[in-house]
Amino acid sequence: STNETLLEVNNIEVIYNHVILVLKGVSLSVPKGGITALLGGNGAGKTTTLKAISQLLHSERGEVTKGTIAYRGQSVSGLNPSDLVKRGVIQVMEGRHCFEHLTIEENLLTGSYTRTDGSAAVAADLEKVYAYFPRLAERRKSQAGYTSGGEQQMCAIGRALMSRPETILLDEPSMGLAPQLVEEIFGIVKDLNEKEGVSFLLAEQNTNVALRFAHYGYILESGRVVMDGPAAELRENPDVKEFYLGMS
Ligand code: ATP
Repeated sequence: STNETLLEVNNIEVIYNHVILVLKGVSLSVPKGGITALLGGNGAGKTTTLKAISQLLHSERGEVTKGTIAYRGQSVSGLNPSDLVKRGVIQVMEGRHCFEHLTIEENLLTGSYTRTDGSAAVAADLEKVYAYFPRLAERRKSQAGYTSGGEQQMCAIGRALMSRPETILLDEPSMGLAPQLVEEIFGIVKDLNEKEGVSFLLAEQNTNVALRFAHYGYILESGRVVMDGPAAELRENPDVKEFYLGMS
């Protein structure tokens, strides 16, 4: 990664339903070219942080009540999610969210709706997605609802790629997947980062795998960042080992 900062989250508070304070002053930054992990247990606030960035809180009756979020130095508050996509930031939601009745290929093509660079460019990117995800190429004509959990996760990432993102906010890609598939998906994330230069903010409960692939990590507990540092340092930190890596 470089020294250039893409995303800067500064001391944000998020409240749901006007009363439930879920983020209590979260700050983090995502450098260009990096894989940044957002770690923590169930309910720590990882998904909320991603949704605050991508402007997906409104539909959940959530609101950023304090702090700032900037992408490339410009505030994102008040934008629509699709405005963010046009600026290069897209979220891959937890739980895959493919359109079950569409084929894999149709799902991928829905990801290109914000683009204005023509069908030839879109077709070229579709082939690129298939090169990264050979399983999706094999299943291109299958209805997404009939593909495996791993294939649907790949489809969700592939669809995000079809918007030509600079930064992907990836929520819990390992959820519900067998260890071997988790490795496969993280391997592809690493390739996309290294070869395509896509930057990632990755929310994960699976600290072990996330810290092997990420460059930097933030640990959230009850809506606060309790620790952050280079992934290699976090992996060796005694508290992280005891509480998050399941060994002491
Ligand atoms: P998970 O891995 O379960 O998604 P997380 O770290 O992503 O955990 P969040 O989903 O951000 O955590 O949830 C943080 C807290 O906010 C939890 O206590 C959760 O119950 C609460 N919460 C999430 N969404 C809402 C909502 N729409 N309304 C009220 N409270 C919510």
